[in-house]
Amino acid sequence: MNKIKRLSSGAFLLTAFVALTASAESNHDWTYNGEHGPEHWAEISKDFHACEDGRAESPINIEGAKKAPADMPRLKITYQPLPIDIANTGHSIQFNAAPGTDSITLGGRVYQLVQFHFHAPGEERFAGKESVMDAHLVHHSDDDKLLVLAVQFKIGDQPNSVIQTMLDRIPHEKGAEFKVKAVMVNPLDLLPKDTGYYTYSDSLTTPPCSEGVTWIEFKEPVIITQQQPDAMQRFYHGNQRPVQALNGRDIWEVN
Ligand SMILES: [Zn+2]
Repeated sequence: MNKIKRLSSGAFLLTAFVALTASAESNHDWTYNGEHGPEHWAEISKDFHACEDGRAESPINIEGAKKAPADMPRLKITYQPLPIDIANTGHSIQFNAAPGTDSITLGGRVYQLVQFHFHAPGEERFAGKESVMDAHLVHHSDDDKLLVLAVQFKIGDQPNSVIQTMLDRIPHEKGAEFKVKAVMVNPLDLLPKDTGYYTYSDSLTTPPCSEGVTWIEFKEPVIITQQQPDAMQRFYHGNQRPVQALNGRDIWEVN
C-alpha cells in the first residue's frame, strides 16, 4: 500500500547528523531569496554563522584543478537498490536512503548514503557555467564525517530512470513524505559511466553551511530529458546558493 506520512516536527524525528545535512528540515525558516535568502542566512540563527564567516564554503566555481597525486585514495561505490522514500522538505525534493544499505569507501573510511536531493539550476559551476539541474548524494561516516557526491545533468533524449521513478510520487505538500517498499531505485543509475571526478574540501550548501565536508564532483554529466527538470522545477526552481570564494583551496582532478 502506498503511504503518505507527515513528518511531524521535521528535524526532531531525525538524528543530529541528518539535521546537519543539506535540505533536512530546520526550525529556522530560510529561503533562496528575499529577507531570508542566502545573504541573510547567518542572521537567522547563531548556528548558521558559517554561512557568513566560513572560509571553505560551497558551492564553488570549478576551474584550475590540479592532477591528483597517484597515491590519493580512490572512491569505491557500493550501491544497491533502495525502497522508494521521497520527502518534499520545503527546500528541495529529497530521497531518504534506507539506513545501512548503500555505502561508499574513500581512503579506508566507509560512508553510508543518508539522502540525495536536487537543485535546479545546478549549484556547482564549471568555468562559470551552471547545469540545468544537479543531484547531491549526502553520506555520513561512523566518525561523523560528511561526504557529498555531486552529479550534474544535461539535456538529451534519454530520461533518467531514478528521477522518472521519483517524479510521479513526489508529495505536493511541504513536509510530507512518500514511502513504499514495493518500488525500488538504484542510486547507481544517477551516476555517470565515467567515474572521473573533482574533489575538494567544502561545506553544506544550505544552513548551517557546516564545513569539513568532502566533495566529489563527477566530471561527466548524466543525460536527462527536458521534461524531467521541468517537472522537478514545478516544485523548486532556483534552490541554488550563489558561488562562494575558493580562498586558496585546492581542487583535485581524479581520472
Ligand atoms: Zn544540495
